[in-house]
Order: sequence, then structure tokens, then C-alpha cells
Amino acid sequence: MANNGLLIVISGPSGTGKGTICKALSEDKDLWISVSATTREPRAGEIDGVNYYFLSRQEFLEKIENDDFFEYAEVYGNYYGTPKWKALEAIYSGKDVLLEIDIQGALKVKQQYPEGVFIFILPPSMEELKKRITNRGTETEESLMRRFKSAYHEMNYISKYNYAVVNDTVENAVDKIKAILSAEKCRVDRLKEKILDSEEVEIHE
Ligand code: ADP
Ligand code: 5GP
Repeated sequence: MANNGLLIVISGPSGTGKGTICKALSEDKDLWISVSATTREPRAGEIDGVNYYFLSRQEFLEKIENDDFFEYAEVYGNYYGTPKWKALEAIYSGKDVLLEIDIQGALKVKQQYPEGVFIFILPPSMEELKKRITNRGTETEESLMRRFKSAYHEMNYISKYNYAVVNDTVENAVDKIKAILSAEKCRVDRLKEKILDSEEVEIHE
């Protein structure tokens, strides 16, 4: 427990820039980025095992049966899930693990792993969010409207998170997340476990 890495959950409405931010964070070699499984079709340029593990519905259901997921959720008509064992192995070996998942998934992870760091990504404005999803060019008109409408509802869940980061520029958002992680590593309740584990320093309550 004492030398576990952090479990960091990045979530928020579709189009706020979670994927872009996580890609920028992935340049940090100390972070282990979890690759999710999904039943959705790959987008142009997406690679199996890199962006997602692309599974059939049948394969996904078998993994649910085998308890292979930390959490899973149905998002916009497709299943998405976080493979459990690799993520836990990485945490227990001391690595910081990053999950980029939707809000339902984040709340399920919080129930199982409340000591995680839960970060909600916000767009600078709803207008800008609409522009970003539209400009990404990956959604049909119907899917775009669905994602945009959900975004309004999803904003209500911000209070369940530990931190909110506005993605005005990717650089600012990444800097804030790095600052959050540095601060989290200095939290006395996390440090205390490490110090007590080393049996070298005595802490008086
Ligand atoms: P999500 O993973 O949350 O669905 P994406 O990372 O796919 O969102 O970002 C949605 C779109 O917005 C993409 O086209 C991306 O390039 C763009 N984007 C992300 N962050 C910013 C930003 N800070 N400023 C402008 N555009 C951005
Ligand atoms: P997209 O289809 O745009 O890649 O992702 C759609 C939504 O599914 C995003 O909000 C993304 O964060 C979420 N998502 C991706 N992987 C997972 C996962 O493993 N679990 C859950 N619950 N959501 C995920």
C-alpha cells in the first residue's frame, strides 16, 4: 500500500479535450496510461492496442463475465471498459496510472478506489465545446447532438471530483494537472504511509 503509485482519473464531457491532454501527459515516462477496451468502431488512424482494444460485443461481454474490468459503462451506445489487472499491477509496482474515462466510469472507480485523484476537465465555454466536437469531425450530426446534450447534464457531476481543470490551452491544462499531481504526492496522509513504512521516522499523532 505504502509504495503504491497514484491512480489518476481524467474525465468530463465528450470534446472537452481529455484525449488531447492525456496524449500530452503521456510524454511523461513516469505515467502509465491505461488503454481501454471498447465495442465502438475504430476511427481513421486509431490503432488496436494503442488507442483502444477494439472488441466485438461478444468478446466484451465475456470479459465482463470474467471480471476483467475495473469498471465498464455503456457510453453513446457502445461499451467501454478499463482492463483491471494491468492497471492494478502498475499501481502496486509504484507507477502512477492514468485513466481517461467517462463520468459513470469515474464514479464507479471512486467507489472502489476513493484514494484516487479525480480530475474533471471543463471547456472554456459551452460554445467552444460545441466548436471543438464539430471541428474534430469524428461524429455524425446525431452523435454530435447527443454528446453535446449529455455535456450539459454531465456538468452536474463536477462536485464528485477532487479537482476541476479548464482546458483553455492544452499547455495550461497539462501544467495544472502536473501541479495537482506534485501536490498530491506531498499530501501528508500519503507521505505518512511511506514514512511509517520506512520505519525510520516516528510520527506523533
Ligand atoms: P475528448 O477526448 O474529451 O472527447 P478531444 O481530446 O478529442 O476531446 O478534443 C476534442 C477536439 O478539441 C479535438 O479536435 C482537439 O484537437 C480539440 N482540442 C482539445 N483541446 C483543445 C484546446 N485547448 N484548444 C483548442 N482545441 C482543443
Ligand atoms: P470516444 O468514443 O470519444 O473515444 O469516447 C467516448 C467516451 O468514452 C469518452 O468520454 C471517454 O472518456 C469514455 N471512455 C473511454 N474509455 C473508457 C473506459 O474504459 N471506461 C469508461 N467508463 N469510459 C471510457
